[in-house]
Amino acid sequence: ESLRLSKGSKLKLGIMGGTFNPIHNAHLATAEFIRDKYDLDKVIFIPAGDPPHKKCVLNKFKRFDMVVLSTLKNDDFLVSDYEILSDKERDYTVDTLRHISETYPNEELYFITGSDALNQMETWKEFQENFKLAKFVAAIRPGINLLETQENVETFRQRYEADIDMIYVPSLEISSTYIRSLVKNGRSIKYLVPSRVEEYINVHNLYGGVVR
Ligand code: ATP
Ligand code: MG
Repeated sequence: ESLRLSKGSKLKLGIMGGTFNPIHNAHLATAEFIRDKYDLDKVIFIPAGDPPHKKCVLNKFKRFDMVVLSTLKNDDFLVSDYEILSDKERDYTVDTLRHISETYPNEELYFITGSDALNQMETWKEFQENFKLAKFVAAIRPGINLLETQENVETFRQRYEADIDMIYVPSLEISSTYIRSLVKNGRSIKYLVPSRVEEYINVHNLYGGVVR
């Protein structure tokens, strides 16, 4: 998070959290579409740490590496190691957003999320607090119940004064789950993930049926 605040006015920062197991082109395309649409100065990707009791998630440093490899050549995209290096048992979005807003007290935060995550939000720790810390931009994800998302958004707006936009993004029907199943079945993931991610998965022999 070495952000130089050279601009006189407020910066607009996109925040994109996720497990990124692995990062794929729909994550990147969604982030870029929203960055452009909202005129964001940067998008910060924040890979989640490893939950202590979940063994099925790939090691956090490898997930982090793949996010870094995917964003290295794009100055608009930054990667935060905040959750990766935290020694907490579990990282909650609200704590991470608080950290970002303390780090950048004068900037406007835009939390980017897929509509699936929005539908789960009521289970998050202190979830209402998130709305005080950031504006939410939810990308409508193929296969996710749109009506349910709309109802949730309406409730969040009315009850918690949430600032949420729901938008269509020209995103692809890719998920990390789908990528993992392709790899496991020996199928190609070319053009679904950045080529460096594809190479990394091959070199490190990831997702090959053996979960580690
Ligand atoms: P998994 O299948 O393992 O759950 P995922 O593809 O959903 O992986 P996550 O790391 O869980 O990826 O998601 C990080 C963020 O990116 C979430 O807010 C999620 O909703 C969003 N996201 C993931 N895939 C897409 C997509 N195809 N279109 C729009 N948003 C997406
Ligand atoms: Mg997911």
